[in-house]
Amino acid sequence: MRMPEPDRETLANRQTIAAELRRIVPGDGVIVDEDALRPFETDGLTAYRTLPLIVVLPETVEQVAAVLKYCHQNSVKVVPRGAGTSLSGGALPLADGVLLSLTKFKQILELDYENRCARVQPGVTNLAISQAVDADGYYYAPDPSSQIACTIGGNVAENAGGVHCLKYGLTTNNLLGLELVTIEGEIIRIGGKHLDSGGYDLLGLLTGSEGMLGVVTEVTVRLLPKPECARALLVGFNSSEAGGDCVAAIIAAGIIPGGMEMMDHPAINAAEDFVNAGYPRDAQALLIIELDGPEAEVDYLIEEVSRIARENGASSIRISESEQERLTFWAGRKAAFPAVGRISPDYYCMDGTIPRAKLPLVLSRMREMSDKYGLRVANVFHAGDGNLHPLIMYDANVPGELDRAEDFGNDILKLCVEVGGVLTGEHGVGVEKRDLMGEMFTDEDMAQQQRVKCAFDPKALLNPGKVFPTLHRCAELGRMHIRQGQIPFPDIPRF
Ligand SMILES: Cc1cc2nc3c(=O)[nH]c(=O)nc-3n(C[C@H](O)[C@H](O)[C@H](O)COP(=O)(O)OP(=O)(O)OC[C@H]3O[C@@H](n4cnc5c(N)ncnc54)[C@H](O)[C@@H]3O)c2cc1C
Repeated sequence: MRMPEPDRETLANRQTIAAELRRIVPGDGVIVDEDALRPFETDGLTAYRTLPLIVVLPETVEQVAAVLKYCHQNSVKVVPRGAGTSLSGGALPLADGVLLSLTKFKQILELDYENRCARVQPGVTNLAISQAVDADGYYYAPDPSSQIACTIGGNVAENAGGVHCLKYGLTTNNLLGLELVTIEGEIIRIGGKHLDSGGYDLLGLLTGSEGMLGVVTEVTVRLLPKPECARALLVGFNSSEAGGDCVAAIIAAGIIPGGMEMMDHPAINAAEDFVNAGYPRDAQALLIIELDGPEAEVDYLIEEVSRIARENGASSIRISESEQERLTFWAGRKAAFPAVGRISPDYYCMDGTIPRAKLPLVLSRMREMSDKYGLRVANVFHAGDGNLHPLIMYDANVPGELDRAEDFGNDILKLCVEVGGVLTGEHGVGVEKRDLMGEMFTDEDMAQQQRVKCAFDPKALLNPGKVFPTLHRCAELGRMHIRQGQIPFPDIPRF
């Protein structure tokens, strides 16, 4: 993976740029010292590292706007950053770019239960929103496993998901409004506390835009009342095919669980070693199924799901008998990534989505690839959504292993597209999947997407090097086809 060559003039002007930015963000909000830049050199995709040109930590929206305006006027690139947990390298710094950290925007601005929403700053962590409203009986539904650390601004930029997204939707389904600063320094508000806005769905467009269209400075999220009751089942299977069939049968029965996650044999054992959740070590596949709602409904659904599981050959079924036990069932799944981190020096977390019915085929092809590349893989999936998270285990200190892990990962993602799925479920494209975009989109598709980028950021200064394999100049994309010396539609005014 290669990033664009750093611009020499910008590198040479580093001190001048820093001095100008200090006039906007005084005090310790501008970092140029190499040791102090070091903590920002990577994100969750730790295989790649680059020291940023400068880190800026603004505290007000006006400072964000002034920083962006300065960078736009002086053609300096900008990488927005939340907590830096992106697994696709979305927050990877640029050697010739300002890293704009939003971590000082930590305030919960308003809790509005009447309108079932909260207005928060982008640096508030995902979990902090639910914690702030817990005592009043509410929560914020999307729950990435990184929720203790990742910020709501980063969640918006990646359209983050989590265990509860099967029933309650991803970030995009739980957002009501945004405040955004454009690269030109204009502060705009999109949506609000109301449910829908007139005009184009800009909120939808900006969600998942990976820091390439603007910088989010405020987020209005939906709050949901906590369900009256939630219980979970642990269901073991002797094959992943049987587990996959059970998932399909539950959905076909019209049941949408609050969460439905699957782990394969290596992931089950890594998680069990780590948290002792009582997982069946001999199972080839484990489903964790959560049912939530009024108590009578949950009791009924537990019976139904148990029946479907038995019909699909479940080798073991356990039902949580207390809230503590339900949380223990989840503890292994929530800690699956660090659990795999304990059994391998490094791991590479992939994220692709497939039609649910293709799961057995994809798993068996993945086993063949594991043999071909000589690397182990543990699988954790949001089974209900068909969102796979294969964790490829490798050792970065062994020459060539990172390259093999990346090739293995690329083959998995190509397979996801081949069986009718997509390159990403929730982690975004970033730099990780950038060069695979051509597997899914034609040149025309990508040119259309880049025209949207050009409308927001004509100089391509926001997070360049991410998402698009080649970022065209906007003038090239806008080029007009002149035929026989005639421009098309000559009567239309040109600007
Ligand atoms: C152990 C682990 C588990 C994870 N589990 C999940 C999971 O279950 N589900 C899931 O969806 N993800 C998961 N992730 C990935 C990651 O946590 C999410 O992508 C998260 O949304 C990133 O948030 P962040 O604050 O860390 O953003 P960063 O990593 O700092 O940035 C991510 C992207 O957002 C942009 N960005 C950040 N803030 C802003 C802003 N204010 N305005 C505009 N752009 C911005 C950045 O430029 C970058 O492109 C996991 C990561 C780890 C390490």
